[in-house]
Amino acid sequence: MKKLIVLGATGSIGTQTCDVARRHGFKITALSGHSNVKLLESLSREFSPLCVLVGEEYLSDLKIRLADTSVKVLPESQLHFAAAECEGDTVLNAVTGIAGLRSSLSVLEAGKTLCLANKESMVTGGDLVNAMAKKTGAKILPVDSEHSAIFQCLDGNKVKKILLTASGGPFYGWSKERLDKVTPEDALAHPTWNMGKKITIDSATLMNKGLELIEAVQLFDVTPDKIQVLVHRQSIVHSMVQYEDNAVLAQCGAPDMRTCIQYALTYPERKEGLAKEVDFASLSTLTFALPDEDTFTLLPLCREAITRGGNLPAAVNGANEAAVEAFLQRKIGFTEIFRVVEKAYQKAAFIKNPTVEDIFETDRAARNAVAEEY
Ligand code: NDP
Ligand code: MG
Repeated sequence: MKKLIVLGATGSIGTQTCDVARRHGFKITALSGHSNVKLLESLSREFSPLCVLVGEEYLSDLKIRLADTSVKVLPESQLHFAAAECEGDTVLNAVTGIAGLRSSLSVLEAGKTLCLANKESMVTGGDLVNAMAKKTGAKILPVDSEHSAIFQCLDGNKVKKILLTASGGPFYGWSKERLDKVTPEDALAHPTWNMGKKITIDSATLMNKGLELIEAVQLFDVTPDKIQVLVHRQSIVHSMVQYEDNAVLAQCGAPDMRTCIQYALTYPERKEGLAKEVDFASLSTLTFALPDEDTFTLLPLCREAITRGGNLPAAVNGANEAAVEAFLQRKIGFTEIFRVVEKAYQKAAFIKNPTVEDIFETDRAARNAVAEEY
């Protein structure tokens, strides 16, 4: 029986990971969430893990809820315990934001396979994450749909180009003037994917594609100029790889994250899936277009950040996390996200080879720079 640890089990990816585990009878030996104690309680009762990790301030509540069980309740800072003590050589990291970086590093340090949904750990600390994987020999398997697609299309030959597809989000084709009036409710309605709040806003600003471009550079060891972003509204082609002979391999399927989650968990095997099959005969068109980078400026900003490297991807990520939070709390408007992130990025002091502490310091400074703007 497959045994695994699920981090961020209470979120969109985490709950879909639990669906995959239920479907195939996988054993979850540890799980984590941050604040949703109610769901952590029911998942703990259902999966009977050895331990469950939760945010410090929710610890006593969850302990009381699970007092009649043998599940150990630990603060999320004790992840290294779960990674070292719990059975299973696979950990799916579905924590949101830079909070996932320490988790990714702990998992790899314990030598376990990291199924990575938390793109921010690759964006902010990709060099450190890759170095840790190299040191312990642990594998990283992508869960993000585009990166899972690219991974599935890699055939061992030299890659000429990666074609990274983007849905374009709910505001595809909109002018800056029209975007000025966007509310959190408008931005949270994504046309094809059903996801957590932060990534849904990132999809609306195209920051998600910028983060994914950085993630692809770090996961597949390609330079940013070899990655072309293509808006593909139908979300059927999840990304493509072009080889020296200009042959292109694409990975297709219904837009359902459970396919990517399951592929990472069962790799290199394929098992019966939970997603619907695509009826190609009923698709009238598949379209591809270049993104509007003059309006959606965070995508070129991310390209610049990873081209310059060092701690700059962490700066742009930290500024964006703070800006998205401020937007959701209605402290700033939608198009201000672009402005404040750019400004915080410009203020960041460049560090070529940052340590983990440098990354978190860069993140803090970028968040402070955003806070100064409103
Ligand atoms: P959600 O917001 O739905 O879930 C986030 C999870 O992280 C929850 O379990 C939450 O716990 C936990 N969490 C929040 N803050 C912290 C913290 N400070 N420390 C530890 N855990 C924390 O996010 P998604 O599932 O949408 O996304 C998760 C990751 O996967 C992101 O990096 C995202 O970019 C990536 N991803 C998501 C996709 C999707 O379809 N959703 C697609 C591709 C990638 P709680 O809720 O209990 O507070
Ligand atoms: Mg994606």
